[in-house]
Amino acid sequence: MSEKKCNFCGSNDYETKTTDYLYSHKGNYLLVPNTPVEVCCCCGMVYYDASVLKRIEQHFFAIQKKEEKPDSYVKLPQIAFS
Ligand SMILES: [Zn+2]
Repeated sequence: MSEKKCNFCGSNDYETKTTDYLYSHKGNYLLVPNTPVEVCCCCGMVYYDASVLKRIEQHFFAIQKKEEKPDSYVKLPQIAFS
């Protein structure tokens, strides 16, 4: 699990960080704060864990189906007024 190489520069020196991840799908956006990412110490390339992305995607579609509420600070720009 911990042995991996940067696809970009070949370095295997990674730093784990959290970032704001913006998921977009068909013009809808979901901002997910504190998303765990791995950043290559050498070139700065950012890698997202597949399971993390999967979870974000599931969260997004649950919101679309109104099964879950979006996080309060998420602003969907298309919800202006009708
Ligand atoms: Zn790299």
